[in-house]
Amino acid sequence: MATDATILAPDPDNHKLVHLQLPCGHFTCRQYSRLTTAARGGHRLGCEECREETYRAQARAIGWTLVGLATDKTGGYRRYAHSCGHQQDVAIVNVDKNQLDCAGCGESWVSKPSQIYLFRIELVDRPVLKLGHSSDPERRLFQQLGPAARDTGEVLRAIDMETGHAALVAEKRAHRTMRTEHPEWVVPREEFAGQINTKSEIYEIGALEFLLSLMDEIEAEARDDKASASDPVEPDPEEPDPEPE
Ligand SMILES: [Zn+2]
Ligand SMILES: [Zn+2]
Repeated sequence: MATDATILAPDPDNHKLVHLQLPCGHFTCRQYSRLTTAARGGHRLGCEECREETYRAQARAIGWTLVGLATDKTGGYRRYAHSCGHQQDVAIVNVDKNQLDCAGCGESWVSKPSQIYLFRIELVDRPVLKLGHSSDPERRLFQQLGPAARDTGEVLRAIDMETGHAALVAEKRAHRTMRTEHPEWVVPREEFAGQINTKSEIYEIGALEFLLSLMDEIEAEARDDKASASDPVEPDPEEPDPEPE
């Protein structure tokens, strides 16, 4: 009861196992000892089926399809198929962040356009902010961050970045600035765990003005970079011509 799961029946073949129905409705089988640990710790049992469904949705959102378990790697990897048909093993976290390259057709997240976004999401006790980057902020907010984001989320601002790489660099720098200059605005993970599907990068609502000014700087820099990128580029004299095959 403490884990919100329903005990259905002991396993007929193994006295250490118990069959359960999880609060999401899925059925599973666990060791009694793990059930006890979860109950004492006051946390719910994870659901493998819901977890895989999340991975499937993350992949779908960026043009990939979850195929199944990774064939060459273990742990945090799965096998995915790109829209071009090519399949490869990819770290799940890179799919979630839309940071994967296709070895089949050569399409790269690094060179695709992206955006830096600022979201407002209601936790049970207060509103918070999330800063991040995504090629599709709305999909990130409403489909990938969990029920609180889906039900209460709001895109406060999104700025265009020419590439995923530029977005990642700018985002990391902004988070570093927040951690070093304003640690009081960084929301500890345990305060949003289970409410927003992310590990960090959640800020108190009081950081709003400061985050907006950081975004102003990022936007101004992105504009300057764009201007200089359109300048003619001199060929690098150090770079030898490729050898004919
Ligand atoms: Zn489930
Ligand atoms: Zn491809």
